Amino acid sequence: MQTENNATFARIDEAAALAHEAQAFYGAASRAVRSALLRGLADALERDAAQLVAIADEETSLGAARLNGELARTAFQLRGFAERVEAGIANRHVDDAAVPGAPPAGRPHLTRVQLPLGPVAMFSASNFPFAFSVLGGDTASALAAGCTVIVKPHPGHPELSRRVHALAERVLREQGLPEGVIAFVDQASREAAVYLVGHADVAAVAFTGSYQGGVALWRAANARRRPIPFYGELGSINPLVVLPHALADGVDTPAATLAASITMGCGQFCTSPGVIVVRDDADGERFAHALAQALSAQKPHAMLTAAMRHGFESAAAHIASQAGVSVRLAAPAHDEEAAAPAPRLFETDAQTFIANAALHEEMFGPAALIVKVRDEAQTLDVLGAVEGSLTVTLWGAQADTPANRALATAAQRIAGRVLFGGVPTGVAVCDAQQHGGPWPASTQPHTTSVGYAAIERFLRPVALQDAPQWAIAATSGTATA
Ligand code: NAP
Repeated sequence: MQTENNATFARIDEAAALAHEAQAFYGAASRAVRSALLRGLADALERDAAQLVAIADEETSLGAARLNGELARTAFQLRGFAERVEAGIANRHVDDAAVPGAPPAGRPHLTRVQLPLGPVAMFSASNFPFAFSVLGGDTASALAAGCTVIVKPHPGHPELSRRVHALAERVLREQGLPEGVIAFVDQASREAAVYLVGHADVAAVAFTGSYQGGVALWRAANARRRPIPFYGELGSINPLVVLPHALADGVDTPAATLAASITMGCGQFCTSPGVIVVRDDADGERFAHALAQALSAQKPHAMLTAAMRHGFESAAAHIASQAGVSVRLAAPAHDEEAAAPAPRLFETDAQTFIANAALHEEMFGPAALIVKVRDEAQTLDVLGAVEGSLTVTLWGAQADTPANRALATAAQRIAGRVLFGGVPTGVAVCDAQQHGGPWPASTQPHTTSVGYAAIERFLRPVALQDAPQWAIAATSGTATA
């Protein structure tokens, strides 16, 4: 094991050295060089789409339709980041002209510029084999910021990761760029992952995955002699509040919409709605019944890995075993032996939910917990008990009332994205997007891992004081690299 680890550590040293060496060139490369790379990667992904999707389907069971859509999204976001690079987002300056006189009114000439942080260790996510893997959002935003990347592939789709990295190597060669711009660490052990995060050549880490794995690596990043930023997305229960107004036209349509969201991708979405808050009245009961019916009609596909399948079973059993929790939709007998799990629905009351932290944990799979609440005040208490979440969804809160304002405030306090309609699964890639939230949704709540603001994670501001024009121009990304 030790020899195996030593060999892996040596490969990490090699990949990190390549990324470090390439950083000097790539960090100073022009906007044109960076955007051409991002566009070249998007084109190459699309050219090999059929072959890549077939491998991805074999390794993840996510299905060709979903995977084709995800590949298209990945190419779209690579091009979107290229557009932001061309527009100068990663090279923007803020300029304060000199003001003669004594401080505080008087001041020197200051220009705030952005510099790339340096090589980023990027941990691929299991549940987005394209959009959050080798050439996914974390890689694209780091490259847009001028950072080289060291990819740690996810063991759930190893062959796809190798193929996509080979494609990236080809694009780098064709464009005359150093191979270390996108370095790759294959088949790393857990010790190796910690070693990578602790590596002196690594300047930041991007991670999407479990709470346990994320916390282990976050600790490693902070235990370094020189701690580095760790951008981790670690899990979320995404509460969805169903207010009485949302059921005014009946319960069947909203129940069907919600059931489709809970089971989308077999529930393996970080934004999957896991806690459903409904009123403890006749309409709430009708809705709970319709949701159980709609869920029972769903046929999820197999989960990403056997470990996740097992993890889902344990998480669901753990929720079911808590005092005060009833099972609204149980799995059929021997379901745990099937690769594709049957959906589950549990129910509890507000007081039980608030008092028991075990009920605030994510069930990664097609399951949700209904929390019945008496009134507005109890709804606020339930949201207040939830830790950070990627999303909170409010159904039926369109009217401008004091109660809806209080609810919106409570939702914004715990979530990175608050929806006033629709379902949280499906995250648009655009400038206004925010995918993060207070711990544990994100280890850095002021940042996003989806959308173009994700670039900011990998930029470090520097103020140039009374600088000559050449020093300011050198950071504008318009010089030929
Ligand atoms: P994971 O177990 O956290 O693994 C993600 C990455 O971190 C892998 O590359 C893994 O490497 C590494 N890793 C995990 N634990 C580590 C540790 N203790 N020390 C060092 N490296 C470690 O996530 P996953 O495999 O994607 O899924 C497992 C569970 O995570 C799921 O069942 C689900 O509960 C949760 N999950 C949540 C989200 C979300 O967005 N909320 C997304 C995906 C998964 P190796 O596996 O190679 O060791």
